[in-house]
This record gives sequence, C-alpha cells and structure tokens, in this order.
Amino acid sequence: MGITAKKRIVTCPTCGGESLYSPENEFRPFCSERCKNVDFGAWASESYRVESKPTTADLDADESPPKSH
Ligand SMILES: [Zn+2]
Repeated sequence: MGITAKKRIVTCPTCGGESLYSPENEFRPFCSERCKNVDFGAWASESYRVESKPTTADLDADESPPKSH
C-alpha cells in the first residue's frame, strides 16, 4: 500500500499565506506560531479591554485623600 497522507493546504487566517493543515503543523490552521499568537493576542486583548474597565476608576476613588491638612 503506497498511501501517503494527503497534505492539505489551507489559508492562514492571519497572514493569508499557505498553511499546512496536518498533524505535523501544530499551529494549524495558522502557518506558524507567530501567526497563531498574533490572532490569539488580538481577540484576547479585545475581550480583556471590556473586562478591566472599572479598575482605574476604582483605584482613583480609593486614592483620593481626605482633606485634613
Ligand atoms: Zn500565517
């Protein structure tokens, strides 16, 4: 049997380049680790921004010193 695993090429969502969609490419469907990280970082910071909105205001209110001088 001369069955060779078919190498499937997909388009990398990040850079639009060719990406090997097979178990040997652990970053699939991305073409590389860099592309995977870029995409993940994009949505991670996007949702993070919404979550961490009140932090500054909270800190500000806490820091305001009592007027006793
Ligand atoms: Zn890529």
